[in-house]
Amino acid sequence: MTTAIYTHPDCKRHEMGSWHPECPERLQAIEDQLIASRIDMLLEHRDAPEADMADIARVHTEDAIARVRENVPALDESHSGYYPLDADTMLNAYSWKAALRAAGAAVAATDAVIAGELDNAFCAIRPPGHHARPSEAMGFCLFGNVAIAAKHAMEVHGLQRVAIVDFDVHHGNGTEEAFSGDSRVLMVSFFQHPFYPYSGAGHHGDNMVNIPVPAFTKGDEIREIVTGKWLPALHAHRPEMIFISAGFDAHREDDLGQMGLVEEDYAWITQQIMMVAKEHAKGRIVSCLEGGYNLSALGRSVVAHMKVLAGLD
Ligand SMILES: [Zn+2]
Repeated sequence: MTTAIYTHPDCKRHEMGSWHPECPERLQAIEDQLIASRIDMLLEHRDAPEADMADIARVHTEDAIARVRENVPALDESHSGYYPLDADTMLNAYSWKAALRAAGAAVAATDAVIAGELDNAFCAIRPPGHHARPSEAMGFCLFGNVAIAAKHAMEVHGLQRVAIVDFDVHHGNGTEEAFSGDSRVLMVSFFQHPFYPYSGAGHHGDNMVNIPVPAFTKGDEIREIVTGKWLPALHAHRPEMIFISAGFDAHREDDLGQMGLVEEDYAWITQQIMMVAKEHAKGRIVSCLEGGYNLSALGRSVVAHMKVLAGLD
């Protein structure tokens, strides 16, 4: 099997202040754990290109794109200027480039997987994407990387049906907004509720299987949701490709959420997604990093996820 990891140094240059949990060290922690676990050398390493505007514009309005591009602070000597898009989403001098690399990774991985060059891929990218609304950035997210890649797969490659699996602790409101009512796309997720961004608990279309769960929900309860709700919907949809919004902030050591998942749960969920992909989608999976803020738990969880993607576990 060939599994690639896409990333780019620009994704570490975007930062929002030393206090901010969505920090460049997250990507370093992933890199370090992949090396320590000795699976780094078994992965194909690819540089993320910058996304084309046409790809981003399939999901986001011109205004939303311009608001990021035009407010990026100038690169000054101190490198300390920030522009706030909301209370916890900031731009620094590198944020525009990082956002293009993040979306570009997802699109390039999609191209390579559909071309059959790769079995699957993980994009170690930031900023994350699943909170970015079509009309505005929010919640640490500038552009919806997974949504952009999913639209690219359908509009450019002509796929008829895709699925998006989101296992971040937070509701992927941006992805839901981009595809609510679009019968080509099935989105399945669980998310802590009530919790940021305080959405997702209502009915948002038959193609949305987004399951709210209370704080302190653990892996065995999540596995029941995956088996009872996600898998039947995924098999009925028969996706030709599966995208994963891979957030690891439902880990029990992560302080941004209050859920109780561990590495083995991420491995198990990844195995279930792999089985669906093998049955319906020629194994095609593109997974993109979303949240995950405890650096050690994040690194270990990505290792567990990637071991399964690479057929090593
Ligand atoms: Zn999250």
